[in-house]
Amino acid sequence: MHAAGDVRVEEREDPKIIEPTDAIIRVTASCICGSDLWPYRGLEPVKDQIMGHEYVGVVEEIGPEVKNVKVGDFVVGSFVISDNTCEICRSGYQSRCVHGEFVSATVGTQSEKARIPLADGTLVATPGQPDPGLIPSLLAASDVLGTGWFAAVAAEAGPGKTVAVVGDGAVGLMGVLAAKQLGAARIIAMSRNPQRQELARFYGATDMVQERGDEGVAKIKELTNGLGAHSVIEAVGTQESMMQAIRSTRPGGHVGFVGVSHDVELPGLELFFADIHLHGGPAPVRRFLPDLIQLIWDRKIDPGKVFDLTLPLEEAAEGYQAMDERRAIKVLLTA
Ligand SMILES: [Zn+2]
Repeated sequence: MHAAGDVRVEEREDPKIIEPTDAIIRVTASCICGSDLWPYRGLEPVKDQIMGHEYVGVVEEIGPEVKNVKVGDFVVGSFVISDNTCEICRSGYQSRCVHGEFVSATVGTQSEKARIPLADGTLVATPGQPDPGLIPSLLAASDVLGTGWFAAVAAEAGPGKTVAVVGDGAVGLMGVLAAKQLGAARIIAMSRNPQRQELARFYGATDMVQERGDEGVAKIKELTNGLGAHSVIEAVGTQESMMQAIRSTRPGGHVGFVGVSHDVELPGLELFFADIHLHGGPAPVRRFLPDLIQLIWDRKIDPGKVFDLTLPLEEAAEGYQAMDERRAIKVLLTA
């Protein structure tokens, strides 16, 4: 991305092993993230930035210290590089690994090949070579599914709970899927887009709220005996969506917030009297990857349906435009 709105596919030098803990992968599929739209829309500074942080692929080469993946393995990786051994990783927060770095900043996986640092701690091999039909779902595990799952866990979605989901993008939809898998009794999706509503229902939404802001909050209260939801997933990152999530949560309830926060300011006194739990941030996808890969492998979940447009890598610019104009929920790029 040379500047806002300016995405071009260009030749780069092939990546090489630099550290003994690196792996080089041939990217089978990558995709465009909702978070890539912030710089695309000029809402985050950007200049000549390599792009992409979601990826699945085949290991082509490994450094001498790599032990957990081998050449030829099909792998899924998180959007944050992690050693998976430090104290923070071991507590389940690999997205804040003391040796962590964001794939989007330095690797850029909207590409044919990528160098993955700390391969042992970052990549997870699938049980075998996947059927082509499983690739979109495995790719989803790399970010949107893992992020939606973390949001649902952070919001303490579970049996008997009413879960409300703010945001009908890919992460919000994956939050619906996760809430369902975690056993939520009722799942309220907030969406006014018929296609996204249909997908939300497919993933397990039981109720739909079209209203936004304070009207949306009033609807959630109406559906929950005036109390608010037990668990609320915030998957947008704006002032409006964050306040909608906080105000939709009942006292004692939990908000899992995973929308990348942009100019959000929280009113302290309102938070004080809300009596709720707030838990969020960049999702530690690596924590969930082994379980998510297994669920996909066993065909128990079908997260790949969030990809509604597939383009060859060379047409990435069209993919950005389609997502920017909300013509596509999520774009898969084939290398
Ligand atoms: Zn770590």
